[in-house]
Amino acid sequence: MKYLRFGPIGAEKPGALDDDGRIRDLSGLISDITPALLGNLPTDLSDAPVVDASPRIGMPVSHVGKCVCIGLNYSDHAAEAGMDIPTEPIVFMKATSALQGPNDDVMIPRGSVKTDWEVELAIIIGKTAKYVDQAAALDHVAGYAVFNDVSEREFQAERGGQWTKGKSCDTFGPLGPYLVTPDEVPDPQNLSLSLSVNGIERQSGTTAKMIFPVAEIISYLSQMMTLHPGDVIATGTPPGVGMGMTPQTYLKPGDVMELTIAGLGSQRQTVGAD
Ligand code: ZN
Repeated sequence: MKYLRFGPIGAEKPGALDDDGRIRDLSGLISDITPALLGNLPTDLSDAPVVDASPRIGMPVSHVGKCVCIGLNYSDHAAEAGMDIPTEPIVFMKATSALQGPNDDVMIPRGSVKTDWEVELAIIIGKTAKYVDQAAALDHVAGYAVFNDVSEREFQAERGGQWTKGKSCDTFGPLGPYLVTPDEVPDPQNLSLSLSVNGIERQSGTTAKMIFPVAEIISYLSQMMTLHPGDVIATGTPPGVGMGMTPQTYLKPGDVMELTIAGLGSQRQTVGAD
């Protein structure tokens, strides 16, 4: 099933896609797609009315508790970044205030000179995970989603301290359009993902190239922190970011990013400036 939230910012309603690809309004059945409801969402859409319009799409779960990101998880991206291949997952946090709907504008923050793109597979946790082993890790997944780990490289790497500074700016976390349940994603390590800027493909990769696969990431993080329902984990980006281009190329107002992961849907963001 593909679950989503639709409507104006702050007033999103819960929904799901039916077999014909139409949005069904679930607001008569549940108040919202909340962390507490993950794993217990309606599956019978027969009483849910069809939404005829083409509403704004929000991020597919409300009240995300934390957003944990994995850095340099594709060997070919590590190479373009000039970094060694990590021997343990590189972990950083993105402020949840950066998260937004998949097609909302991305705003270049004041003082930015190096705002960049990163298409990623996101995991949305569905069951509390603490000290889980890899064999049980995927049982804790509510679903998967497309994610743009928008990054300000100068904030991230040239101002000292942690990557979090360049990862947490407002609008730097488009998530969705859908939370796609694992039954529709039988192998999360076999998904193609791509990103274009102004119609020119910049990133193209496959989750088969992850250094640390989804199950290992969940298990690894759960040794250090409890993962709660609704937590989002961004699993790293394939090569083709602006920082890796010659010359380096960064986003400017008016640019349009389009992201796709096979089976998970697409995002489209117009870039603006704060
Ligand atoms: Zn990333």
